[in-house]
Amino acid sequence: MRVAMVSEHASPLAALGGVDAGGQNVHVAHLAAALAARGHEVDVYTRRDAEDLPRTVPVGPGVQVVHVDAGPALPLPKDALLPHMEVFGRELAAALLERPADLLHAHFWMSGVAAREAAGSVGLPLVQTFHALGSVKRRWQGEEDTSPPSRVVVETELAAAVDAVLATCSDEVRELAALGAPAERVHVVPCGVDLDLFSPDGPHGGPPRQQEHRVVAVGRLVERKGVEDAVRALALAPGGPLARTELLVAGGPPPGHLRIDAEAQRLRAVAEEVGVADRVHLLGRVDHADLPALLRSADAVVAPPWYEPFGIVPLEAMACGVPVVGTAVGGLLDTVEDGVSGALVPPRDPVALAAALGRLLDDPDRRSAWGRAGRRRAQEGYGWGSVAARTEDVYAGVLARTRLEAL
Ligand code: UDP
Repeated sequence: MRVAMVSEHASPLAALGGVDAGGQNVHVAHLAAALAARGHEVDVYTRRDAEDLPRTVPVGPGVQVVHVDAGPALPLPKDALLPHMEVFGRELAAALLERPADLLHAHFWMSGVAAREAAGSVGLPLVQTFHALGSVKRRWQGEEDTSPPSRVVVETELAAAVDAVLATCSDEVRELAALGAPAERVHVVPCGVDLDLFSPDGPHGGPPRQQEHRVVAVGRLVERKGVEDAVRALALAPGGPLARTELLVAGGPPPGHLRIDAEAQRLRAVAEEVGVADRVHLLGRVDHADLPALLRSADAVVAPPWYEPFGIVPLEAMACGVPVVGTAVGGLLDTVEDGVSGALVPPRDPVALAAALGRLLDDPDRRSAWGRAGRRRAQEGYGWGSVAARTEDVYAGVLARTRLEAL
């Protein structure tokens, strides 16, 4: 098959950890490579956000990134891209006439808008992965949600119109059902993890340890990732192991720009307020290739989002054999087995987070048992090869159905 993937804001070529560059970039890059390894060709269409980008960039055998001219060739926040999706769709349709594909696979709702336009005009089936849903974001962020107001309506229409929706976890299946997505068109295919890069074997990284225990958090520096709760948790059990714990936070702008980052300033202010500033270290963006060593250096990885469409970081920690203390939301409900490979606590509850972290840090046997169980679970269900195989099954089903319908 030749698959035209559409990822309007999240290029596989982008540096990770910035406000709009995270799991979707990782997902698209690895899924494309793993599909190519299974003999398919994948073209990833993404918006040109710099003048000097070539039209096409080969990124590995069978995979190329195609830069689409839609809107100014500048980095724009993803929530400002909707007005450019019509042009993106037209450009995509023109590109597909020159270089035909068997199907379109859109990532994120705005790619779905552009891909639906192109799919209609060139007559191709369309598979949609939302990665995040506006209805969930609105529930948690309320007025602070900067998504275009039409998002929920557009997502509802897309979910009903596309040939298949790939939900990344069972929680998303429930959310999609609430939007009225036809159940027979919704398939769960999780995000994956690079099991060679993220493995228990290898050096321990990060700055030298200054405390008895180290807990690591990784993610885009945005409030809903819940790092504030981890900072507050550090202060909550003065007599326990958490009082002898450092928290390393990877993500956000490059280290040199952390000073002017609003979320970094906010987290520092919270750390000062609760008296743990000397034990909280904001590292800024860490190269993806350096993350495994940082994760391995931790006694536990903390992932306390308010909500989380999937959450690749907990899976990366598990693949490294490091136990996870996370919140019982979204994809973590599927990936982290509570009491087996990690502990799940309610979101936005620093007290519960502190209790779970404290128990784990106090118990080295539990830490290694949970770490081993996490690695096993990552290997069994979340390698990109198996994610690509499951995606390919959905593609094949969609192609068979559309061919039948065309008879
Ligand atoms: N990441 C990274 N460096 C950083 C911060 C994050 O490489 O400094 C990567 C991280 O390893 C993971 C992805 O960005 O692969 C974040 O994905 P996740 O699903 O956890 O969160 P999202 O960003 O999609 O909300």
